[in-house]
Amino acid sequence: MSTADWPYPVNEFKCHLCGNCCRGEGYVEMLEDDIERAAAFLGVSDEGFRERYCDYDRTEKMWHLIDQGDAEKSCIFLNKDNTCKIHEAKPYQCAGFPKRWRPENIMDFCAGWRAAAGLPPADEKRTMSED
Ligand code: SF4
Ligand code: SF4
Repeated sequence: MSTADWPYPVNEFKCHLCGNCCRGEGYVEMLEDDIERAAAFLGVSDEGFRERYCDYDRTEKMWHLIDQGDAEKSCIFLNKDNTCKIHEAKPYQCAGFPKRWRPENIMDFCAGWRAAAGLPPADEKRTMSED
């Protein structure tokens, strides 16, 4: 969804730490820069980071983060309090969300944008697809 089509002031967005954008279907793509930055932040090698935290999608030809193996498919770096373990070095895709890019169904799960629109928090855990 482009910013031009977005009816709410992006600069006033406040994250409510619901964590819904870090769970569910979909991938966090890891570009080479993302891997280097996150690996350095955690003090591991790039190769070690790939082995421990990533999978390679042969169809899409990209590295992506794995999940925790839980029912909600929580990102491997999502803390119990819905903060991000690699916040200071988070991937480009995550850093741009939800101001620079948003999926069409963002109002189904993002507490911050729901609040900005005067809607109550959503109960459901998100199912996200990038537009
Ligand atoms: S890397 Fe951090 S911000 Fe990105 S999905 Fe995982 S927990 Fe969320
Ligand atoms: S879904 Fe929205 S409010 Fe919830 S953690 Fe993500 S950005 Fe913040």
